[in-house]
Amino acid sequence: MVIQENASLLPFNTFGIQAKGRWLSSFSTADGLAELLDRSEGKEKGAVPPLILGGGSNVLFTHDVDGWVLRNEIPGIDAEEDGGDVLVTAGAGENWHAFVLHCLDKGWFGLENLSLIPGSVGASPMQNIGAYGVEIATVFDSLEAWDKEDRKIIRFYKGDCHFGYRESYFKKEGRGRFVILRVTYRLSRKPHLHTAYGAIKEELERMGVSSPAPRDVSNAVIHIRRSKLPDPQVTGNAGSFFKNPTVPQVQFNQMKKDHPEIVGYPSMESGVKLAAGWLIEQSGWKGYRRGDAGCHPKQALVLVNYGEATGKEIWQLSQDILDDVHTKFGVTLEREVNIF
Ligand code: FAD
Ligand code: NAP
Repeated sequence: MVIQENASLLPFNTFGIQAKGRWLSSFSTADGLAELLDRSEGKEKGAVPPLILGGGSNVLFTHDVDGWVLRNEIPGIDAEEDGGDVLVTAGAGENWHAFVLHCLDKGWFGLENLSLIPGSVGASPMQNIGAYGVEIATVFDSLEAWDKEDRKIIRFYKGDCHFGYRESYFKKEGRGRFVILRVTYRLSRKPHLHTAYGAIKEELERMGVSSPAPRDVSNAVIHIRRSKLPDPQVTGNAGSFFKNPTVPQVQFNQMKKDHPEIVGYPSMESGVKLAAGWLIEQSGWKGYRRGDAGCHPKQALVLVNYGEATGKEIWQLSQDILDDVHTKFGVTLEREVNIF
């Protein structure tokens, strides 16, 4: 087991923030994790509880981590037939996009709209990752997690996970208590395509595909994402910085009077979902840059690090945007990215 002291976290966060972890290690089994957690409670105890990291694509470090940073590298993909479905279980350390492509290769369908989302399988239930009208809750079966309090492995089924819009039990009530070890998805051998999002339809048309197969949908999503989103290898970012807010119908009706061009979608829960990117753009922040911290010129919902921005600078920019949107529209944005 390799343990580094005062280790740079720069290679392990897609925002490209220079931060250090007091101790850094990784685990590829539940036993390895348990051993590291024991050490983190012993004489090498840090000031903060251990931080579990997957691909680091949904975190912003605003300071050094005065404790343990544990990288999840649990490998493996297994599958078993279940009626007409396939139950596919992947280790939390598997790369999400590689997992999606693997499933497509095998003819296991349901994840195609979630192609090219960065990060690990283990983090996928954390915020119920979603894109282009599909979220993992749709095909989620169960997961295994290490319970730090009771020191044992627990299985969570869908109902236990309290999935919501970019939310789950693990991001809220269960935050910090569980380490996700393995996730099982119930995929189908028959395609059920979701192509209603305008951008997918347009891209399929552009590709000249009239009867798409799941692989076509995946390719369309990959192409749209590559054309629109900044590549973290080139420009640091963590995807959408804010969630799309939901407002009551009456508030939306009033906003529509003041801003006839505003777009709203029926929320999965109740009320009307607004595009946070539109609110930010209308508030004049799209393409804004302050030092090396910025708001992406093609997608206002994505905050970027052009090189040397600190986590505090990115956070302050997000706060200024949040305050401004609130002043202009009376809507309070909520950060989606996990702040440390
Ligand atoms: P990390 O950033 O490493 O961790 C995220 C949080 O989960 C942290 O709080 C961490 O402590 C916790 N965590 C991680 N692994 C575990 C584990 N095994 N057990 C317990 N806790 C854990 N998200 C979407 O939903 N939809 C998108 O379309 C999307 N597009 C993106 C595009 C870009 C360019 C980028 C950079 C990000 C995008 N994201 C998107 C956000 C991000 O990719 C996802 O949230 C992803 O699931 C994060 O995975 P990760 O392994 O990098 O998690
Ligand atoms: P977009 O197509 O420009 O649309 C803007 C917003 O409007 C999206 O956030 C989306 O909400 C919503 N929307 C568009 N069409 C919709 C429809 N038919 N029904 C319901 N809602 C609709 O969005 P984008 O920024 O390019 O992103 C495309 C997809 O990738 C979105 O699903 C987005 O969530 C996902 N994405 C997520 C992240 C992340 O980090 N979380 C980063 C990049 C892209 P939803 O977000 O609810 O879908």
